[in-house]
Amino acid sequence: MTTLFISDLHLDQSRPIVTAAFERFMEIMAPNCDALYILGDFFEVWIGDDDDCPFNARIVKLLQQFTNSGGLLYFMVGNRDFLIGDDFASRSGATLLEDPTVIDLNGTPTLLMHGDSLCTDDTDYMSFRLQARSPLWQEQLLSQPLAARREIARQLREQSQSMNSLKADDIMDVNHSEVARVMSEANVSRLIHGHTHRPEVHRLEGEKERMVLGDWHDNLWWIQASANGDLTLNKRSINDDLSNLNATR
Ligand code: MN
Repeated sequence: MTTLFISDLHLDQSRPIVTAAFERFMEIMAPNCDALYILGDFFEVWIGDDDDCPFNARIVKLLQQFTNSGGLLYFMVGNRDFLIGDDFASRSGATLLEDPTVIDLNGTPTLLMHGDSLCTDDTDYMSFRLQARSPLWQEQLLSQPLAARREIARQLREQSQSMNSLKADDIMDVNHSEVARVMSEANVSRLIHGHTHRPEVHRLEGEKERMVLGDWHDNLWWIQASANGDLTLNKRSINDDLSNLNATR
């Protein structure tokens, strides 16, 4: 049983190279992949499941192909695509996961998160997150026409870019005591997350492990769990033709 984890593709019409890389990735990896976990910020922006633009339809179709041929697809939202809902899930055949979720990965309880909730030092973001995750706020946003939502999304993105450029690097990373707290609360020795765009395998005290996925800007990053229990963080250049890839069982 091969399980793959990806996050932070930030799929967007403006960067067709990433979409092409994901298409190729699915073409090559999907046939030997039993389960695919997408851990947030799969889309650069998502303004509601009712946005029927051709780009979204194309991505949903890719996911559909995977689930129609028996692949299990699990989807956790990130801070960009938090408006993804049940319609998207049923169309793509995905099961939506809460953040955080503990799964049994070949016998090892593994905590999955997007990762934004771990960046507790970024207090501005944490208060935005609280608001953005409130059902009432989401309902109000989703009741606006698509064009208005598109404009709100654009403004939010601009705001977050200008704010982030003023923040110290360590504020944009996870808070280590928060990591320790969530891992102990979930009673796990392994955590997989994305969001920070700092791909790494961190060995923590007490034989614990924090695996961080990377974004798909210059490289493709994925974690592969093989049936023998091996877990690897993998990277390929986005310009690679990927023909040497294969998901081994
Ligand atoms: Mn994120």
